[in-house]
Amino acid sequence: MKKLSKKSKKPSIAFQSDIVIDENGEVFISFLGPELLHLAGQVKDHQAIGDEKFWEPPTLDEIYFNELEYKNCKICPRSCGFDRTKMPHPLCGDSKLRVSNFGISFGDEDIISGSGGSGVIFLSGCPLTCPSCINKEKVHTQGQEVTPKEFIDLIKCLNGKSVSNIQILSPTVHLPNLRAILKALKDSNFPIPIALKTSGHDLPDQIMSLKGLVDIFIPDLKPCFNIEWSKDARIEQSYPKLFEESINEMFNQLGSPKFSNSGTILSGIIIRYVKPPFLSKEQELKTIEFLNSYKDRAYISILDNYVSQK
Ligand code: SF4
Repeated sequence: MKKLSKKSKKPSIAFQSDIVIDENGEVFISFLGPELLHLAGQVKDHQAIGDEKFWEPPTLDEIYFNELEYKNCKICPRSCGFDRTKMPHPLCGDSKLRVSNFGISFGDEDIISGSGGSGVIFLSGCPLTCPSCINKEKVHTQGQEVTPKEFIDLIKCLNGKSVSNIQILSPTVHLPNLRAILKALKDSNFPIPIALKTSGHDLPDQIMSLKGLVDIFIPDLKPCFNIEWSKDARIEQSYPKLFEESINEMFNQLGSPKFSNSGTILSGIIIRYVKPPFLSKEQELKTIEFLNSYKDRAYISILDNYVSQK
């Protein structure tokens, strides 16, 4: 493997995604919610203070959301065909791009956080019900609907804080809307890497549709060789195969990980695995062999801060 991270002394990203820190080390926003309306003012302040990399944001009337894929939704491996334009799916939400939280995280692997932290945007909606999910309140609620302009404003705000990258969490059920945003960012030469942090429960075709739009993929590997856990999480039985195909597609797009002089990742795949305490020896061995098969293609991060929420 490229690297196995030692036991992390820091909390996992899931804990850290709550933390929003300004240049004085103080929390400035913990939840968007109705506070989104204040964002425009805050963005101006941050732009004036930060020494962010220069970026001319895209022309906003070139970004529009197309609801077609949400009508007969087959965006994730469940391919259930729910019409999310008519009503919200109980787990995935409706067809709107919804943000539940954003901020600056210093709790990821050092190659992501770097010195400036990672600018995280947490989207709401996830088809999974993982027993270990510590973000249920963010994932399984209807977050704040954002327009393309508001989403770009968020990114401006984070770039204004000189973060190492932008990291979009829980993107899977929003990929059609996100594609429009990501394309606009690429077309406007956004200066820092864009990372998508997924559950690993993705359709390879959807990953293919992101070609040229994403710099870093951070898929979780779930404890998929434990049948009981997989049932609780409602991950498809085909998860290992889909995971493999998705990683292959990510690798086709990005190649091996590349790093800046300061050691932060610029592009590539990071597979994150939070080691659960309940696997049998056989399941553990199978998982390690599975991870090992990606050793030449991805940075592999194994954490042991599993927390059961059952
Ligand atoms: S994203 Fe949700 S609504 Fe769409 S296919 Fe998956 S489970 Fe169904």
